[in-house]
Amino acid sequence: MSVAAKKSTRASEHFDVLIVGAGISGIGAAYHLKHQTPGTTFVALETQDSFGGTWITHKYPGIRSDSDLHTFGYRFKPWVGPPIAAASEILRYMEEVIEENGLNPHIRYGHTITKAEWSSADNLWTITASRKSDGATLTFTCGFLWMCQGYYRHAQGYTPDWPGMSDFKGRIVHPQTWPEDLDYTGKRMIVIGSGATAATLIPAVAAKTSHVTMLQRSPTYFIPGRNAIEIAEQLRALDVDEAWIHEITRRQILKTQDDFTRRSREEPEAVKAELLAAVKLFLGEDYDIDTHFTPKYRPWRQRIAFIPDGDLFQGIASGKASVVTDEIERFTAKGILLKSGKELEADIIVTATGFDLSPQGDIGFTVDGRTVEMKDTVTYRGMMFTGLPNMVWVFGYFRASWTLRVDIVADFVCRLLKHMKKRGAARVEVAIPEHLKNMELMSWIDPEDFNPGYIMRGMHLLPKRGALRDWQHTQDYWGEKDEMPKIDLDGEEFVYGGVKVDA
Ligand SMILES: Cc1cc2nc3c(=O)[nH]c(=O)nc-3n(C[C@H](O)[C@H](O)[C@H](O)COP(=O)(O)OP(=O)(O)OC[C@H]3O[C@@H](n4cnc5c(N)ncnc54)[C@H](O)[C@@H]3O)c2cc1C
Repeated sequence: MSVAAKKSTRASEHFDVLIVGAGISGIGAAYHLKHQTPGTTFVALETQDSFGGTWITHKYPGIRSDSDLHTFGYRFKPWVGPPIAAASEILRYMEEVIEENGLNPHIRYGHTITKAEWSSADNLWTITASRKSDGATLTFTCGFLWMCQGYYRHAQGYTPDWPGMSDFKGRIVHPQTWPEDLDYTGKRMIVIGSGATAATLIPAVAAKTSHVTMLQRSPTYFIPGRNAIEIAEQLRALDVDEAWIHEITRRQILKTQDDFTRRSREEPEAVKAELLAAVKLFLGEDYDIDTHFTPKYRPWRQRIAFIPDGDLFQGIASGKASVVTDEIERFTAKGILLKSGKELEADIIVTATGFDLSPQGDIGFTVDGRTVEMKDTVTYRGMMFTGLPNMVWVFGYFRASWTLRVDIVADFVCRLLKHMKKRGAARVEVAIPEHLKNMELMSWIDPEDFNPGYIMRGMHLLPKRGALRDWQHTQDYWGEKDEMPKIDLDGEEFVYGGVKVDA
């Protein structure tokens, strides 16, 4: 038994590792701990009543992935369905991972973590959580905190405060908190926004509504295409083992995405022309693509949603859906008055206006009694943070599937835990080496490179990034997949301490 465990008498329970959240990151973390560090005790605490995170929070019609499930799925469990999947299919896949790997006993639902207090005397985190079933406040101790809380507040989405909202006589709905009783049959709906959510929702509701209007301030890029991956279909026809199909398909998708990312930087105009040509195929030459589907930014500065079978564009071509590109002056009793002077009437207004960034999962951190906020730290490779010992946060990729990073970070954490054991260390922290003390510090990401609204609104809450690659979340899967396994855990940026007697 470790010194840490002996000292945990004041807490209800002690675990070597405590995972925050049971979304795709938390379940991945649990899987890897179980397989890569047998004997490690761990628990995942999850606010909600079930696993899935994003995929149970969002219940709006049509909710589906916007990237393929071969790479949004884990590397260790083949995805056997079509690449773009509904939330229910993703939840089923996650359920199989939990069941096949005996992860259920490691997950506690209905537990909201409110505080995480690090003690350097004990080299332990003390975690305070409230239990939904009886309102009890529980404490846990853990040696290592694995933050898998995602990046946005689940309880509610972001809705701008437009003038006159209370004048509107119809219903205003945010997709993140979609009311179960919302009947939109035969109703006029306006969806504000043109991101992945709007693009998913509109084709799903178009047939039932009398009309749905996508109201956007500015256009977004989309990639319409068949919801199938040719190489996966070919290999399946040859009766190739699903594990092989998964691996080969992942490699092909990642190669294509790598080429696309590079081309978006090197020849943005050519990529733009290709994307717009694909939209034109659905909407025809007479449609005003310039106004409604030609963004001002170069491709890949914001996430590009894949539109399976071009269903959004089919809805527009059929006349059941339409696009208005304008700005909101104010809400009125009947709908929305636009800056152009035009009024759009509606029975239901859906604000697909994004997320409320929450980098700490609404957890208050202290280190030896002193409050530490993410925004005051500098990140080591977008996963560890100066001044926050024994902690990792999984923040995925923007231009590749989030889960690719879940697997990569998990390999790193498991290697780090084993290394600490070997060294007999109870504590590890990242620190900027003395000779880099003057390294320039900047915002978490470069807005020139990537600038979605929720990040721009919440950048002040995010950790800082340094000028050198080691001190950044590079968003570069293709580099990280080779670099992360080679990180020298005895490198100068890792500061170890404490003594673990069971080493
Ligand atoms: C509608 C939608 C579609 C998306 N589609 C894609 C896609 O196709 N491809 C892609 O790569 N990315 C996509 N994303 C991004 C997506 O959020 C991530 O890919 C991924 O699902 C995040 O997983 P996660 O487990 O890290 O976080 P989340 O899914 O956000 O889960 C975090 C969990 O932690 C819990 N939690 C948070 N704080 C606490 C606390 N204090 N105590 C206890 N529990 C806590 C939450 O309740 C939640 O269940 C999409 C996002 C949205 C909203």
